[in-house]
Amino acid sequence: MIKAGILGGGQLGRMLLQAAANYPVETFVLENDTECPSAHLCHYFTKGNINSFDDVYNFGKQLDVLTIEIENVNYEALIKLEQEGVKIYPKPSALKIIKNKIAQKQFYKTIEVPTSDFVTTNNRDELTLHKDFLPAVHKIAEGGYDGKGVEILKTELDFEHAFDSAAVLEKMVEIKKELSVIIAINEKGQTAIYNTVDMVVDKQLNLLSYQLSPANIPEKVLWKAEAVALKVVKELNSPGIFAVELFADVNDNIFVNETAPRVHNSGHHSIEACYSSQFDMLWRVMLNYPLGNTEHILPAAIVNLVGEAENMGNAHYEGLEDVLAMDNVFVHIYGKKLTKPGRKMGHITILSKEPQELLHKVNQIKNILKVTAK
Ligand code: ADP
Repeated sequence: MIKAGILGGGQLGRMLLQAAANYPVETFVLENDTECPSAHLCHYFTKGNINSFDDVYNFGKQLDVLTIEIENVNYEALIKLEQEGVKIYPKPSALKIIKNKIAQKQFYKTIEVPTSDFVTTNNRDELTLHKDFLPAVHKIAEGGYDGKGVEILKTELDFEHAFDSAAVLEKMVEIKKELSVIIAINEKGQTAIYNTVDMVVDKQLNLLSYQLSPANIPEKVLWKAEAVALKVVKELNSPGIFAVELFADVNDNIFVNETAPRVHNSGHHSIEACYSSQFDMLWRVMLNYPLGNTEHILPAAIVNLVGEAENMGNAHYEGLEDVLAMDNVFVHIYGKKLTKPGRKMGHITILSKEPQELLHKVNQIKNILKVTAK
């Protein structure tokens, strides 16, 4: 049987393992936390550090194929494993471009896809050379995730407290919509593209509020989004699954924000809403099977379930029974013991052919369901 490994054991790994149960594959997970969401769903769990050369290399050398659920892994070990014949999807060459935001922005420029104007800086002091860029978004080159490592610089006064590390300074886009396009690409270069997802951001909290798929956007914006995302994925030159995050601005221009070389939060609805989920699809790519069908069975919305503010401790899901009593609503709890403010603890998928019903249930669920500490 094919031996397949995942670096990282969070919720993405967990849902990937749920899909793996349908295929003839033996699954391996490398992760430091023995209580992580993936620990009890894989065939073989290895406790280890995904940033350590030795841990990743020793884990990977027993495998036929290896994937990641987080970008921040030991890249040198992946290069060596690839040289020794282990299939690494996404390829280390693609990961190298993506895991550093400077390299990623330069890549978009080289392949001539639209992305916001930017300069790169080595430290805080260099920011003062780029006053003309304000207001700008400042993003550290490595190690940021979920908005950590991203800050808005409005005036020169903000330079004083800005991140002091290698970074990208990019012009603010007047965002109308944040979109995501998930695309799978196999060894033959064939692609399967999911419907564009509308990531609706709560402007006040600066947090993802909910997601809708298919996105509610004019056809010409959709075509641009798909064309740009497809170009990015093809130019990365690697089998795997990729989520291309885009902005549509107030003039309906499309800009690439960033790409994730893996399954992505914006595709979780695909488990129930599409014929082949993003997790099923990645197995098809890794096991070299035909690509699946990305079409929707029904339109969907996702609400992320995050830890309530000021609650830290053993997770308790208030209102879960009421949500489970609702029709066409699917609960995913990630199995994390401890909740923390803002920690992703689960998600809820809602299916309906009526956009109004999706929105109504999104709001109901946000009011009913809370992750608190007991
Ligand atoms: P992360 O990788 O941590 O999620 P992102 O690059 O996606 O960071 O940035 C987080 C959020 O910041 C985006 O979802 C968007 O709302 C905002 N943002 C990022 N870049 C820009 C930009 N150039 N203009 C306006 N808003 C931006």
